[in-house]
Amino acid sequence: MLTITGKTKLLGIIGDPVEHSLSPVMHNTAINHLGVDYCYVPFPVKPQDLTTAIAGFSSMGIVGFNVTIPHKQAIIPLLSEVTPTAKLVGAVNTVWRTETGWKGTNTDIDGFLSPLKPLPRDWGNITPTILGNGGAARAVVVGLAQLGCSQIHVVGRYQQKLEQFKQSWQNTDLTAALIVHSWDELSGVIGETELLINTTPVGMFPNINNSPVESNVFAKMPEKAIAYDLIYTPNPTQFLKDAQQQGLRIIDGLEMLVQQGAVALQLWLQQPVPVDIMTQSLRDYLKL
Ligand code: NAP
Repeated sequence: MLTITGKTKLLGIIGDPVEHSLSPVMHNTAINHLGVDYCYVPFPVKPQDLTTAIAGFSSMGIVGFNVTIPHKQAIIPLLSEVTPTAKLVGAVNTVWRTETGWKGTNTDIDGFLSPLKPLPRDWGNITPTILGNGGAARAVVVGLAQLGCSQIHVVGRYQQKLEQFKQSWQNTDLTAALIVHSWDELSGVIGETELLINTTPVGMFPNINNSPVESNVFAKMPEKAIAYDLIYTPNPTQFLKDAQQQGLRIIDGLEMLVQQGAVALQLWLQQPVPVDIMTQSLRDYLKL
């Protein structure tokens, strides 16, 4: 059991809503396991209260915190420093205290890459397709570029949003790599897609029978292709079930979730953290 003492240091997560967050479960389990005097708390913060909340965190000596929807972009002007990767993504999910103020980064990229990096693939010659062009897709784009993918397809619903997405990378090295498509153009790129990533919420609990693509899509993909769903509940999703049926390698969103948290906790504690224990805490909590 976690014992709160007069010396306990505070970590947490801000969001609106924040009740659904799984971060308190995995972080407090890890903190308990390590026997360090910290506690990780959910802080519901409304958009209009963000500035006041962060000023309060500064004066209360909070050590660090995670940031979730809808504050991932809005937090940036309130920080004294942002890492280059977070700047590229345009979103911060992890913040820690420095001598000059708050510093922010984006650990979703580390989380996303964690299950891919050990795979024996020539990433420079792999063509990935991302389904969806929201917040998570941005971290995925940066992650894929870090892997070395030189061409990245992005599929979205609305032409205007797709154009904005493409434009937002205009002054970066990524602009040449990105090709945006409407959903009816997916059939034109699926034959060369060796990594198909679902970043839409389609198929997420409670709509567990839904998938962003027809099941026959996977049959058109190259041999040894990978299907990656960022969703972690249900586990596996219909998208991954269909891909597995076709003999594809599948990756669910749980490792990404745990690894983005593990990188953040390591930043705050400045020591290695028990990733397996964090994973198991979520498996138990989600009854997987
Ligand atoms: P978001 O910013 O709202 O983006 C969602 C994207 O999905 C948007 O491009 C949206 O399109 C598209 N979309 C939504 N409903 C759709 C539908 N019915 N058909 C086609 N496209 C649809 O959300 P996000 O933060 O990127 O999160 C997306 C998913 O990733 C969620 O399920 C989230 O739980 C998961 N996620 C997992 C992790 C992890 O650690 N495993 C981390 C981050 C996110 P429009 O823009 O056209 O609406």
